[in-house]
Parts: sequence; structure tokens; C-alpha cells
Amino acid sequence: MTSIFPARKAPDNLPRPVHWASNAVCRTDHIHPDTWFPIPTDLAGVAYAKSLCRRCPVQMRCRTDALNRGEDFGIWGGLDESELQAVRRQRRNAALKQAAQEKQAAEAQDALAPAG
Ligand code: SF4
Repeated sequence: MTSIFPARKAPDNLPRPVHWASNAVCRTDHIHPDTWFPIPTDLAGVAYAKSLCRRCPVQMRCRTDALNRGEDFGIWGGLDESELQAVRRQRRNAALKQAAQEKQAAEAQDALAPAG
């Protein structure tokens, strides 16, 4: 039985969008990936990884992505594990505060509405 697919395919040389991390320091400078995962008590290692992130052209994008993914380990966007946790905690508290304010405003609106 013959296949409906051609035996040979055209080369896949279509242009692809460039990934935002293509120019990242951790991808381009041939530094061992473990550099970004020092044990938290290795202060020199943490400082070195942060110094590399500081000169990375995609630092803020990396930080935002790491926070959105909920990265728990390593240095991302120049923040260490405790700093990432602190930012997530701030975001969570801000979201809870906003939800409480919205609920309070809705309850106040209901109280003003005429009964009936
Ligand atoms: S900021 Fe992010 S992408 Fe840039 S070197 Fe640091 S970990 Fe890598």
C-alpha cells in the first residue's frame, strides 16, 4: 500500500519568532546552569548569580515570568528565593486587599439600594 504522504519533505526552514530568552546572559555566556541555583546559604554564589542577572538584557521579563510560574528555587531576574517569595506574598496580599475592598463596596451599595 502506498502512503498518501510524499517520501521526502521540503526542508523546514520557515522563520521562527525569536524567543525572548535568546539573548539572556544565562544562555549566551557559557556559564554553568548550576550558577543560578546556589544553595541559599552560599551568599557569594547568590551574589554572583545576581550580578550576572543585573547585566542581562531580559532581566525584567525573566523576573515576571518566574513570578507568574511560581518558581521556588534559584535566582530568576536577579531575585533570590526569599525575594521571589516576598514579591509573591505582596501580590497575594494586594489581591486579597482589593477583593475585600470590592466586597465592602458592593455591600455598601446593597445597603443603599431601596428595599423591595
Ligand atoms: S535575568 Fe533571568 S534570563 Fe537573565 S541571566 Fe538572570 S536568570 Fe537568566
